[in-house]
Amino acid sequence: MGDKNNHVMHNNIMDVNLEDGMSADQMINKGNGLTYNDFIILPGYIDFPPEEVTLSSQLTKKIILKAPLVSSPMDTVTESDMAIAMALCGGIGIIHHNNPPSYQANEVLKVKKYKHGFIRDPVVLCPTNTVSDVLNVKKEHGFCGIPITENGKLGGKLVGIVTSRDIDFLDDKNFENIKLEQIMTKLEDLVTAQSSVTLTDANHILEKSKKGKLPIVNASGNLIALMARTDLKKAKSYPIASKDENKQLIVGAALGTREEDKLRLSLLVQAGVDVVILDSSQGNSIYQIDMIRHIKKTYPNLQVIAGNVVTKKQAKNLIEAGADGLRVGMGSGSICITQEVMAVGRPQATAVYKVSEYAKHFGVPVIADGGIQSIGHIIKALSLGASTVMMGSLLAGTSEAPGEYFFSDGVRLKKYRGMGSIEAMDRKDASGSAMNRYFHNDVDKLKVAQGVSGSIVDKGSVLRFVPYLQVGIRHGCQDIGVRSLNQLREWMYNSELRFELRSHSAQIEGNVHSLFSYEKRLF
Ligand code: GDP
Ligand code: 5GP
Repeated sequence: MGDKNNHVMHNNIMDVNLEDGMSADQMINKGNGLTYNDFIILPGYIDFPPEEVTLSSQLTKKIILKAPLVSSPMDTVTESDMAIAMALCGGIGIIHHNNPPSYQANEVLKVKKYKHGFIRDPVVLCPTNTVSDVLNVKKEHGFCGIPITENGKLGGKLVGIVTSRDIDFLDDKNFENIKLEQIMTKLEDLVTAQSSVTLTDANHILEKSKKGKLPIVNASGNLIALMARTDLKKAKSYPIASKDENKQLIVGAALGTREEDKLRLSLLVQAGVDVVILDSSQGNSIYQIDMIRHIKKTYPNLQVIAGNVVTKKQAKNLIEAGADGLRVGMGSGSICITQEVMAVGRPQATAVYKVSEYAKHFGVPVIADGGIQSIGHIIKALSLGASTVMMGSLLAGTSEAPGEYFFSDGVRLKKYRGMGSIEAMDRKDASGSAMNRYFHNDVDKLKVAQGVSGSIVDKGSVLRFVPYLQVGIRHGCQDIGVRSLNQLREWMYNSELRFELRSHSAQIEGNVHSLFSYEKRLF
């Protein structure tokens, strides 16, 4: 019996129809809007290791990233620390605009000025502080190498440094009475370096001087940064960091479409921003079209991402106005209640496919924004035509996200909130006017929230988390059988890539099930 079957199979192996699953086009056009969870990608053939998968992808017409990952412009996700970490890992961060324009521009500047290995905001004390103050810093932050400036601030004139060696062997234990000027290593004995110093030079200086800290000063002797030997010893290199032609990290910033946003824009441009995102929940508006035209006329070299959109018609207007990229998603974010409150939006998988399929005819890349809960969702977004994905909740709770950790029931948490939550909308600028995209109109006395506010579990550093996402995406591509994200899109459009819808029970089957308890450790 077995023999016979084998025989039959052997004879006809070339003739048997191998077509399986559906093309993206067939799947999406079945009618119902689909989310990432509603479908699965069928595996292909593996003849290469995951390390060979290239993750380069376009953010805009002119900006290519080595990793397709973007952090969302939200006040609990992206300020300079996040943007620096994202760029070091090959992605990009978009600084939020729920802040005064000068604050946002300064965050952009911090990213552009970033030099690897430099502590940009060291704790600084002044000569009249006491040893107790140093011990308090040690208790709170864990280090005690502290530069001393005349005014006790970064930017003040450097007059000395205090390290553990200056205080460990003090006979007098009256620490609150011992002023730092009595025990610090004074300026004349200090080894310092100028701001132009390279990492290699700094390493040499620290090695030769056998010191643990190297204060960095400008030409007038004012402190501008600090370097620590411990950091140089473990300095990792970031070979795929996203950089501009001057070797500075690249960074984006969000802004609105009101008249006063033109001033904000000019400050961002002065600070060196590489790309701006027009931050509207429904981007297909006269305001956004006017703003795109203004930007294209005033700053022709600045890349502009418009949105958010979820339909081809919305995309058409913004592309015609000159958008260099589109942000896609309405109501799919984890903190978002737009679909519930406004009755508009679109399930995210359908939105990504429809807009990407249209925008590709004009060479305009798409960012899939919102609803990314896992590596699988990233791969699905890319497999439906998006060039990059934007993440809020996935990156909130990392040490680079703004805000302090707090404990609740023994769990270490950080705040994460929608930019359309009442809490975020209530944040005012110095003049008392609302700063955010969900509540532009000051005559609107009564606010309608489009988002919620919550908390998220500590995820550690982005510098570890984002590489984990990248390795995961490479494994996904390997299973599919594609060596690059370009090939992934190519296969989707030529129908080589096959999809299948998942029933409700298929989705349950695809998750962990039938266990009494389990631990989900991801990396
Ligand atoms: P210290 O000798 O007690 O200052 O500590 P180490 O040099 O062994 O370690 C200090 C670590 O904390 C390094 O990884 C620094 O990058 C980091 N760090 C972060 N902020 C600061 C700061 O403001 N001052 C100092 N001294 N270190 C900082
Ligand atoms: P997440 O990655 O958390 O699922 O979604 C993040 C995205 O949700 C953001 O990039 C932004 O587009 C969107 N978003 C942020 N805040 C709000 C909000 O309050 N309401 C709505 N509707 N969307 C939001």
